[in-house]
Amino acid sequence: IWNNCLKIIKDIVDWQPYKTWFEPIKAVEIKGNVLMIQVPSQFFFEYLEEHYVNLLAKTLKRELGKDARLEYRIMVDSGNNGRNGSMDVPAGNMKMYNNNEMDFPLIINSPVKNPFVIPGLKKMQIDPQLNHAYVFDAFIEGDCNRVARRAGKTVAEKPGANSFNPLVIYGGVGLGKTHLAQAIGNDVKRLHPNKVVLYVSSEKFINQFQDHSRNNAINDFIHFYQLIDVLIIDDVQFFARAEKSQDAFFAIFNHLHQSGKQLILTSDKPPKDLDGLQERLLSRFRWGLSADLQIPDYETRIEILERKMKNDGLDMPKEVVKYVAYNINTNVRELEGALISLLAQSSLNKREIDLELAKKVLRNFVKTSSKEITIDAIQKMVCEYFDVPYDKLLQKTRKREIVQARQITMYLAKAFTKNSLKTIGEHFGGRDHTTVIHSCQTVKDLMDTDSLFRENVMELTQKVQLAAM
Ligand code: ADP
Ligand code: MG
Repeated sequence: IWNNCLKIIKDIVDWQPYKTWFEPIKAVEIKGNVLMIQVPSQFFFEYLEEHYVNLLAKTLKRELGKDARLEYRIMVDSGNNGRNGSMDVPAGNMKMYNNNEMDFPLIINSPVKNPFVIPGLKKMQIDPQLNHAYVFDAFIEGDCNRVARRAGKTVAEKPGANSFNPLVIYGGVGLGKTHLAQAIGNDVKRLHPNKVVLYVSSEKFINQFQDHSRNNAINDFIHFYQLIDVLIIDDVQFFARAEKSQDAFFAIFNHLHQSGKQLILTSDKPPKDLDGLQERLLSRFRWGLSADLQIPDYETRIEILERKMKNDGLDMPKEVVKYVAYNINTNVRELEGALISLLAQSSLNKREIDLELAKKVLRNFVKTSSKEITIDAIQKMVCEYFDVPYDKLLQKTRKREIVQARQITMYLAKAFTKNSLKTIGEHFGGRDHTTVIHSCQTVKDLMDTDSLFRENVMELTQKVQLAAM
């Protein structure tokens, strides 16, 4: 029966996806109107469910009648069995997972205690979720990151089989944590193509966990993660106060570590300062190596800029590169931001990048030397832009256009002047600082959801920036 189904599916689905998603499926047994198939992994099951559930349902109904049902069994990788002795989260037995949203009932049947393995089935294939631009080659080495970068190289060469397990990379915003962690993942894939690598932010991990938790499928979640060879979790500080997710992470961590799999974690603080993370997790973080990323020194900043320019096929005078590197000493993201602004201004004004332009542009980055633009000036610009009378901006009008113009003005005033929220509020007919906070938040939210609104704000931001030069 399953072979008949496959024939039908083969005619409908393209060759490549057919090979990837249908050939590895094994029919296990038929009981009445229920066909049990075995798939290589939880991920595989989810993929089928997401992309092919209707096709499967239709074909199966044709073969087995309208009450046909499909049951899945998930094959567990042979390397991972029986090693869960120290897990605090109980490894459940035969968890049933009913997806009620489907008209076609799916049941997952995961053999946990005694995973039986059918030889010859493919190892699970998952998309590692890596950005290919984040490679070691593009990650400039300096005193600021030497230990972390070299440890990362070692980990990539011998994942799991080194003394840096876990490797914890920590440092402030924009210093290259994500880049370095992903470079390790990319290098593992290059050197060991068969290793299963996964990059995930802790926020995504928490969200996935909560979804599974709602569906009573926590064990499936944990088992999926236990099949990974190199697990990269970015920004673990966001685990703070997500207790249940930490429990799951703890179980996964233990299992992977004991099975000789590699863990790479990043965090914005050294592990000892990670408030809100369970002590048992922190003590495990100390098993490996914690390496920090510092602000690159002047020479390294020059190198980083030069590499970026080379990668993007750009050129600018050395004195400009030096000027930017000298003045932007906060983090690499800002360094890149300055470069991008410089390019934008150069093409906007159709002029070559020279020191003079760099000085103008950098005024917006180097906070001390920027020419201060006033709240009044911003108000006038916004009024002109939206064609709103100035006095309306200050009054208590509830008209939508005016409310939005007022909110944008407050947002710009907060971004481009050094005035306190209180002072800004006073410039709008004596509103208090909470109104200003609320306005700024509203603008940020609307920019995420309303593209026309976003365009307006971006254009106004440009105008204010230019006026501040
Ligand atoms: P974090 O995750 O620590 O906030 P990111 O990894 O996102 O920082 O880095 C911010 C930007 O800076 C990225 O575009 C990254 O490519 C770049 N970057 C950081 N460190 C370096 C470095 N040493 N060499 C080249 N680029 C770097
Ligand atoms: Mg990051």
